[in-house]
This record gives sequence, C-alpha cells and structure tokens, in this order.
Amino acid sequence: MKNCLFCRIANKEIPSEVVYENDDILAFNDINPQSPVHVLIIPKTHISSLNQIDHTNSEAALKILEAIPLIAKKTGIFESGYRIVSNCGVDGMQSVDHLHFHVLGKRLMKWPPG
Ligand code: 5GP
Ligand code: ZN
Repeated sequence: MKNCLFCRIANKEIPSEVVYENDDILAFNDINPQSPVHVLIIPKTHISSLNQIDHTNSEAALKILEAIPLIAKKTGIFESGYRIVSNCGVDGMQSVDHLHFHVLGKRLMKWPPG
C-alpha cells in the first residue's frame, strides 16, 4: 500500500528503531512509548487490521505470535511479563490502518484497561 505509514516503515522508506526482523515481520520501537518497553510488531505485507485476518493471510499473524517471546527476551521483559494489544477500528482507537501488535512492558499494567 503506497501511502500506508507502516508499509513505508516495513520497506525502510521511513526509518525506525528495529528491535527484531525476519522475512515476514518487523518489530520496532513505538515513536510515542506508553511504557518503558513499547514495541510494535507488524506484518511486512499490508493487512489493515484484525478484521481482515482470514485463511489467506493468517500465517502473518502466526509469525507475529512466534516473534513475541523472542522480542520479550531481547527487551528484557520475558521474566517480568508484558501486555500485547492490537487496537481495531474506531472503538478500539486504532490510529494506523496496518495490523500491528503493541508489546508493552517494564511497568505494571492496569486491568481492566480504561
Ligand atoms: P494504534 O493507535 O493504531 O493502536 O497504534 C499506532 C501506534 O503507532 C501509536 O502507538 C503511535 O505512537 C505509533 N506511531 C505512529 N506513527 C509512528 C511512526 O512514524 N513511527 C513509529 N515508530 N511509531 C509510530
Ligand atoms: Zn500497510
């Protein structure tokens, strides 16, 4: 997607602080961190949100799940714990329409969320 911010980050047209990368996914630091560790994980192919996951592209979601423990180890939150969030749509307050998972850690998370 030409004008998608996260496609442009995935293509390295826009720089990011890469935490982890493989052929299918990119993980990079959020520009406006909400916790001491705040990493975004995206598929390199464009998927707009969780709503667009189906049998043709769910492999990308699986790759993201597989990367989570690796990213947790790399950022020092494997033992202490963390929260994974994927905001979807208006009520979910999704602001970038390219599927992404927030990895939040190094502080105690509130539950339930606000
Ligand atoms: P959402 O609100 O859609 O769940 O999450 C989008 C996230 O992308 C936000 O946490 C926001 O700070 C982050 N973000 C927006 N633009 C950029 C950018 O250009 N670079 C990086 N690294 N993060 C961004
Ligand atoms: Zn995109």
